[in-house]
Amino acid sequence: MIQLYIPLNFLGVIYREIKQSLADIERMFGLMDEDLEVKDKPDAPALLVDGGAIEFRNVNFAYDERRMVLKNMSFSVPAGHTVAVVGHSGAGKSTLSRLLYRFYEVTDGAILIDGQDIRDVAQTSLRKNIGIVPQDTVLFNDTIAYNIAYGRPDATQAEIESAAKAAHIHEFIVNQPDGYKTQVGERGLKLSGGEKQRVAIARTILKNPAILIFDEATSALDSRSERAIQQELQMLSRNRTTLIIAHRLSTVVHANQILVINHGEVVESGSHESLLDKNGEYARMWLIQQHSQPNASTDGNQMA
Ligand code: ADP
Ligand code: MG
Repeated sequence: MIQLYIPLNFLGVIYREIKQSLADIERMFGLMDEDLEVKDKPDAPALLVDGGAIEFRNVNFAYDERRMVLKNMSFSVPAGHTVAVVGHSGAGKSTLSRLLYRFYEVTDGAILIDGQDIRDVAQTSLRKNIGIVPQDTVLFNDTIAYNIAYGRPDATQAEIESAAKAAHIHEFIVNQPDGYKTQVGERGLKLSGGEKQRVAIARTILKNPAILIFDEATSALDSRSERAIQQELQMLSRNRTTLIIAHRLSTVVHANQILVINHGEVVESGSHESLLDKNGEYARMWLIQQHSQPNASTDGNQMA
């Protein structure tokens, strides 16, 4: 027995280590690649998108069973609407987008898109329909054109450039000696946080998905560039189901609904005006942000 047990256990350890390092690579690549943790059901059908309505139904989630990160979260984003999620760092905002992308499975409850439980559909079809502009974009060691076209490999050069223009990164690219063929990443040109975000925005514009998630998508930009790109993002989100995760409240005032989350729970929800009237957590956050200087970038990259 012992002889049998030891090698099996040893294999288990190796297996877990390999799995973990692959998961790290996946994380590095911005959750875009094939998932290793979450498996499709055999013969899982493709997600059928008709508007892309999102529903979180009594979702509980823990990365580690000892600590619940999301507690009984329920909310809906009707097709074509924009819902914003605000809350302090560590409240569980980015976790919502990781679950929606099915990078992790919910611990309890369900997430539905157009009425289909995302556990029942093929991950590739789910991810094809969701575009995420994440907090931290990691670029591939490849050309800038490749990085923009990632997710739409069949895109033409003209389409790539038009997405880059909308994301206000075209000028920057054409001013590089190798233009769109400039190598970026570890072995090439190092882009700033703001430039990387613009690449991610261009990538999402090109991908043209039914569902959009902006996870503090403009947090690395100064407020002037943020305002310019905000307009593009608003245009992009028109008639698309959009989840905006934000720390800077000025970016969410136009949302159809704002959810304030705290320690993984929805503590308030409503429009900007109704939340101000309520004079609760949101109103308090709004007041604080109004009093900090208008071009403060203090809510940028240090948000976890
Ligand atoms: P927010 O985006 O609101 O700042 P997150 O959703 O990233 O917050 O994180 C919510 C909580 O979950 C935090 O306490 C964070 O430390 C924890 N957390 C995030 N990612 C992981 C992970 N991969 N493993 C364990 N805990 C995590
Ligand atoms: Mg976050």
